[in-house]
Amino acid sequence: MKPAKLSLALPRKIELAQMEGTTDGPRPPSNCASEQLAKINAMPQVKRPLTAEQVYVRGSWAINDQPWHNGYRIETPGIQKIAELAIGAPVQANHDTYSGIDALPAGRIFDGSLARRVDGSTWALLWAWFVETDLTTELVQRMDGGAISEASIQILFEELECSICETDMYDCAHVPLQMYDGKPCEAIVRGVTDFLELSMVWAGMAKGTEWILAASRAREAVPAERMLAERSQPYWGKLFAGQPRPRVTLDESLFAVQQTGAVELDLFGSQ
Ligand SMILES: [Zn+2]
Repeated sequence: MKPAKLSLALPRKIELAQMEGTTDGPRPPSNCASEQLAKINAMPQVKRPLTAEQVYVRGSWAINDQPWHNGYRIETPGIQKIAELAIGAPVQANHDTYSGIDALPAGRIFDGSLARRVDGSTWALLWAWFVETDLTTELVQRMDGGAISEASIQILFEELECSICETDMYDCAHVPLQMYDGKPCEAIVRGVTDFLELSMVWAGMAKGTEWILAASRAREAVPAERMLAERSQPYWGKLFAGQPRPRVTLDESLFAVQQTGAVELDLFGSQ
């Protein structure tokens, strides 16, 4: 019996040593510049001053004014509004705000600005801080390594306008992404009133979103025609004819659309 116990103990010791080695390995760079740290510590949510070593700072090309995979598009002034309203909003995973402790914020946005790219698109570039924990260390490692790559926003807005007839998208008969006299129909989001959260997502409804390190390259031209062809399939139909207007929460992640009952019913339930 004794030798058997010893043989069991030995691999366990090795296992522990390996785990300790992994834990002690290099953590991702903080990338928190001094002026960023000052902004973070000025946020009302921060209850005790943080040092640069205690946080990770990462940026997100969060949203732009170009057409999404589903034919929605936010008007350009809305992008400016988002860059302002997002400050103080949480960073979530997959728009999940309900799943207990797992749905609590991983980080929070402390800065936002407008950025224009050479292709003419206008972006909200948002900056978030993540207090260093085992969880955020893992998330940031996955961000830096490219596994967690895309972002998605959740906002409130006043009006969804049809680009063809310029009336309320919920009342007209046009369908986003369908062609009318050679022009694609777009559902234009007007009157952004609030920013609820920024999520890390497997794939965003907006094209070209990404998470970045402060010093990482900024992509100038993002190939828009790619991946997930099903996200471009028309599913709107005349779904809103005679139906109560859906809630005005706009969640541009397909994942989240599938997760929210009311919207799911309208968008997917009666093709
Ligand atoms: Zn229309």
